Amino acid sequence: MKSYRKELWFNIPTRRAFVNITHEVDRCVKESGIKEGLVLVNAMHITASVFINDDEPGLHRDFDEWLEKLAPHEPVSQYRHNVGEDNADAHLKRQIMGREVVVAITGGNLDLGPWEQIFYGEFDGRRPKRVLVKIIGE
Ligand code: ZN
Repeated sequence: MKSYRKELWFNIPTRRAFVNITHEVDRCVKESGIKEGLVLVNAMHITASVFINDDEPGLHRDFDEWLEKLAPHEPVSQYRHNVGEDNADAHLKRQIMGREVVVAITGGNLDLGPWEQIFYGEFDGRRPKRVLVKIIGE
């Protein structure tokens, strides 16, 4: 069995954003040389997510507005976590959107369903953060 590990770095200039990382993950699959296996992609920070959905800007605004209704950033004083920091909402948003995805690799390609794309979800940006890509297979 072969294995491959890589960290993807992000420094998002805004507090929140969704970034399509499908191409970067696919590049890792090609670099690994693994034809049949699994790729795990996970956010290494507790205020960011990795998830799979449609690359459609309206949907991304819907996600953002829905998350703001569930866990509004302001007022920051509403959260017990916000003692000396202001990112409680980002922890909650990360929990809803998920930590990781696992995608099958078939014939050396990401075996995604129709319209499926892999996203990095940032909820407390403006600093360097990482995503782990781990691939195992043959
Ligand atoms: Zn925090």
